[in-house]
Amino acid sequence: MRVLVLNCGSSSVKFAVIDTQTKESISSGLVENIGVNGHVKAKGPAGNIDFNFDCPTHAEAVAEVQKFLAEQKLIDTIEAIGHRVVHGGKYIKSEKVSQEVIDYIRSITLFAPLHEPAHATGMECATKFFPTLPQVAVFDTAFHQTMPRKAYLYGIPYSFYEKDAIRRYGFHGTSHRFVTAEAAKILGKKPEDCCFITAHLGNGSSCSAILNGKCADTTMGFTPLDGLIMGTRSGSLDPAILFFISKKYGYDIDRLDKLVNKESGLLGLSGLSNDMRTLTQAASEGHIGAQIALETFCYKLTREIGGIAMALPRIDALVFTGGIGENSRVVRKTVMENLALLGYQIDDARNEDNGKNSGHIISKDGTPTAMVVATNEELLIALDTEALVK
Ligand code: ADP
Repeated sequence: MRVLVLNCGSSSVKFAVIDTQTKESISSGLVENIGVNGHVKAKGPAGNIDFNFDCPTHAEAVAEVQKFLAEQKLIDTIEAIGHRVVHGGKYIKSEKVSQEVIDYIRSITLFAPLHEPAHATGMECATKFFPTLPQVAVFDTAFHQTMPRKAYLYGIPYSFYEKDAIRRYGFHGTSHRFVTAEAAKILGKKPEDCCFITAHLGNGSSCSAILNGKCADTTMGFTPLDGLIMGTRSGSLDPAILFFISKKYGYDIDRLDKLVNKESGLLGLSGLSNDMRTLTQAASEGHIGAQIALETFCYKLTREIGGIAMALPRIDALVFTGGIGENSRVVRKTVMENLALLGYQIDDARNEDNGKNSGHIISKDGTPTAMVVATNEELLIALDTEALVK
């Protein structure tokens, strides 16, 4: 089946046409700067496009995607649409899109203010421009809904959980689920027989403890700000730091939000960049900020892995994925060295051989297994969509 995967963000719409049989992406692209100065970039079998256009709302963006797919003669081959949704609230698995689902996504806007309205609008636009296609919503949070209460509760008065559903939700669930299934395959086991630590390391990063194929704990929380140090996000903080900065510098809520979401993490620590490639290069050339950022990123990651490992009886594999996990030899090597207590030893030659071939084992024979698995969230969204609409 060919599935159009749509990822409607606050000011962008990303798309891909995935063939679930061949698992290949046939066409993909991005409309960005919605509401400002629309720009579309897309590729397909009949050629590529790249231009600016008038795009005041998501409707024009989805219309442009539809037009491109029609020009590519792909439109009649697509049988369903799968939407990536950041926050699924109560949903524990993917759902067929209905008015009830759209209304629920809008009702939890407070949980992800930039994303949820965009997802709901994206679904309505898709209904308008692709009226015959069934749609499915795939939630980043759903995979983590198996966490036990002791893992998802925060140490604040219980009434906030009861009244406002303030709890750990976890994100990147589609990626953690995808690499869990892949890693199990590589070990020749069923996911339900496997315990993993999955480390999705990209611009946003999170680690999950996978117990018998299900999520037992994860580092992201009520929002994707919790847990690991990320590109521009701080990760976990002592909340009193915010009180201190607010009192001393007069930062209001919006300014604090910007500080911890856009100015912190690798960027804030290094004073140079949020991009791991730039930082690795600069650190090797002696840039102190880059060295501090790299060292702190790897140490905090190790510390979180050590923490969530306590949710598991054993670790069958430590799985690295995401842009950094799949590509950064330096991060993998440093983290594996930091994890010496758990017996991990890196095989330098394997770690150097950094191909995109999924399932690349990077640990030494006879030591606990660590591997690199390329994530593919779009494929999993397409497969979920196919399963639900068939
Ligand atoms: P997103 O979370 O936006 O999907 P990605 O998963 O694409 O992000 O990851 C982006 C991160 O991966 C960036 O920090 C980037 O520098 C890093 N990255 C990509 N390629 C490499 C590489 N070859 N070496 C080190 N880091 C890399």
